[in-house]
Amino acid sequence: MTNLPMKEKKRLAVFKFASCDGCQLSLLSCEDELLALADKVEIVHFLELSSHTQTGPFDLTLVEGSISTHEDEDRIREIRRQSRVLVTIGACATAGGIQSLRNWADHDEYLQRVYAHPEYIDSLATSTAISDHVTVDFELRGCPVDKVQLLEVVLAFINQRRPNIPSHSVCLDCKRRGVVCIAVTQAKPCLGPITQAGCGAICPAYHRPCYGCFGPCDQANAKAMSEHYLEVGVTPLQMIHQLRNMNSAAKLFQIESNRIESEHPTNRPAP
Ligand code: SF4
Ligand code: SF4
Repeated sequence: MTNLPMKEKKRLAVFKFASCDGCQLSLLSCEDELLALADKVEIVHFLELSSHTQTGPFDLTLVEGSISTHEDEDRIREIRRQSRVLVTIGACATAGGIQSLRNWADHDEYLQRVYAHPEYIDSLATSTAISDHVTVDFELRGCPVDKVQLLEVVLAFINQRRPNIPSHSVCLDCKRRGVVCIAVTQAKPCLGPITQAGCGAICPAYHRPCYGCFGPCDQANAKAMSEHYLEVGVTPLQMIHQLRNMNSAAKLFQIESNRIESEHPTNRPAP
């Protein structure tokens, strides 16, 4: 393999905002594949990998995590300014993450309960996706992201093409695997019909309902799905909890959980 001179390699940067680091770990777990990419890509900023960092501009920037502080808002604008292509990775970056559950809560009350000195905390009342703040070139879903899909995204952008990431629902993967539908046979509130594929339908394959960790798929009809589950005995509260998870602030899940809550006010989740 011929090594390209440094200046011809693409400059890759990885940045973290509010998150658990799981999506960055997915990139680190690529190990062998990253070595194979070393001929084409120079990782110039990735604090999970090395404390040695370089400044921008960057050819490809991967961003993990949601915007939850005033400092985050300034930092993501500067990162966008330095990045030719910016890709968000994971549920936190694409939909606010599990921390966006606070979007339904009283932020000040939480601060009082959790911190001995809340006056020192400077955070926003919401946790939001990166695309709510800057232009994003591509969003890769998942909590965490799938390693194979992540490599496809990196390869696609260094080769200047669109990534080949499926936008169909988990249901299609169940059919391909020959998994018996647990929504139909067990009346469990599986979000597979409205969730984007990417995991190979792993939860239904083990008789567990999908809880939507890859976020909404294309052309999903969330209302029809929820109404079916409510008719077969799932409670409104169960349905709201199923929708309010790591992708609760994804627009489709958010609108549907709010609709159920407003139509069944006595089933409101505890604050
Ligand atoms: S999307 Fe999930 S795995 Fe990725 S950083 Fe957020 S919480 Fe962690
Ligand atoms: S089946 Fe649903 S919850 Fe399970 S890994 Fe796949 S997308 Fe996530």
